[in-house]
Amino acid sequence: MEDGAPGAWEVLVNNRACENKQTCIDVCPTDVFDMLPATVRHPLFWLKIKAHGGQQAVPVREESCIGCMECVTACPELAITVTRRAAS
Ligand code: SF4
Repeated sequence: MEDGAPGAWEVLVNNRACENKQTCIDVCPTDVFDMLPATVRHPLFWLKIKAHGGQQAVPVREESCIGCMECVTACPELAITVTRRAAS
């Protein structure tokens, strides 16, 4: 799969690390992320996430990712991983 092909990149957000700072939304050139209500329920992480507004980044338009790595670099919590999918 070519780098620019839809679905060529896998975007993961560590929901135990994301603190709703929205830097990924600010920098992503293809609008991959939305902020949505957090789903993590582990009490240690939920208290922290709730203190940060209870929302986290979700790569809802992952197929639009072009692998530029801007979100990976910008995230202050190092919560985002972007990897190229293996060719099928
Ligand atoms: S790697 Fe680039 S295009 Fe892909 S989600 Fe991150 S900022 Fe958006």
